[in-house]
Amino acid sequence: MSKVLIIGAGGVGQVVVHKCAQNPEVFSEIMLASRTKSKCDKIASQIESKYAQKIQTASVDADYPENVVKLLQSFKPELVINVALPYQDLAIMDACLECKVNYMDTANYEPKDVAKFEYKWQWAYQERYKQAKIMALLGCGFDPGVTNVFTAYMKKHYFNKMQMVDIADCNAGSHGKAFATNFNPEINIREITQNGRYYENGAWKEIPGMSVHKPIYYPEVGDKESYLLFHEELESLVKHFPEIERIRFWMTFSEQYLTHLRVLENVGMTRIDPVKFQGMDIIPLEFLKALLPEPASLGENYSGKTCIGVQIEGLDKNNQSAKKFIYNVCDHAESFKETGTQAVSYTTGVPVMIGAMMMLTGKWKGTGVFNVEQFDPDPFMEKLNIHGLPWKETTF
Ligand code: NDP
Repeated sequence: MSKVLIIGAGGVGQVVVHKCAQNPEVFSEIMLASRTKSKCDKIASQIESKYAQKIQTASVDADYPENVVKLLQSFKPELVINVALPYQDLAIMDACLECKVNYMDTANYEPKDVAKFEYKWQWAYQERYKQAKIMALLGCGFDPGVTNVFTAYMKKHYFNKMQMVDIADCNAGSHGKAFATNFNPEINIREITQNGRYYENGAWKEIPGMSVHKPIYYPEVGDKESYLLFHEELESLVKHFPEIERIRFWMTFSEQYLTHLRVLENVGMTRIDPVKFQGMDIIPLEFLKALLPEPASLGENYSGKTCIGVQIEGLDKNNQSAKKFIYNVCDHAESFKETGTQAVSYTTGVPVMIGAMMMLTGKWKGTGVFNVEQFDPDPFMEKLNIHGLPWKETTF
């Protein structure tokens, strides 16, 4: 029986609240807080009509630790689940430190003015969290999150040595809009428009954005052109599994999406530096975000599936060459039926709830700052099968 504070009432937040409300034996009291309180109230009323559970709501600007501290002092949760934006990570971590409350999130901190995807800012809290005897769990969505757990599971059960690792993320769904992003547009476009990066033989290699691509076969979906990007779990997986010789991340995009993105980039709409307009400073990407559909609004009429998994080549427990592909397939329409959101929010929100469950039930415990691959993958893998994200294994 635990009290949790969820911060962020977007697409992912909506799924997290649904999944926590489905498990009242663990999440006995839930508060949802976000910048815009009306969004929290809307989600709370959906939950009340579906599960007869009361969700408390509050307004908070989590850019400032003192605001979060106030909320923590009045609500007194055991855990803060941060599903707002990566910009708020450090402010929320500071507030948790001050109030000695456990913390988790799904995306590493990013400064607003540079698109940098690194754990260094959050890993720097290690000693302070240890001393405060609290725990932070970083990156517990699908990727990062489940992909890290899949890798840890493969290491535990199949491989003596994982040599080549490819994380492959396919969204073969269709939302019927000319251009939209499946999670926060600002964060999504920052991620895709930076240079690609992968790790090979002890060094990071950089390539121009979207310049390397190849078809990958995704079970239940088929062959899809996939583009090499940098993604934050590469950094933590290389740190925690130093045996990995090469690790890359691949993501699919439709031609229509890429054409729109190219045009937006060419005309400067994806810039993150301020531009003077009628005497005001405007950040083009922030303005573009205001025009694009919110991820939480895409669910209705979304059809098709996502397939996200990890392909590993290496030496099995008998030191024989082996190849494994471990993955989940998720259906957009099914996700919408259950939680009112599309599968990208669903595949992120379910592992958030499971990670929180692991912490609150003591299956994953410790003091300090952790990535999910540092814990026993088995209880988490078991819960994925129960709570809506069943996984399968094959070869490739
Ligand atoms: P949305 O844009 O739909 O939602 C973000 C929410 O955060 C909004 O409700 C927004 O409020 C709120 N918010 C923004 N700034 C603040 C602030 N200063 N204080 C309080 N609340 C704030 O994004 P998603 O739900 O799609 O994504 C949520 C997070 O999940 C992101 O960090 C994203 O990077 C991460 N993610 C992780 C994935 C993974 O697999 N690991 C995959 C997909 C997403 P308002 O409505 O007022 O703007």
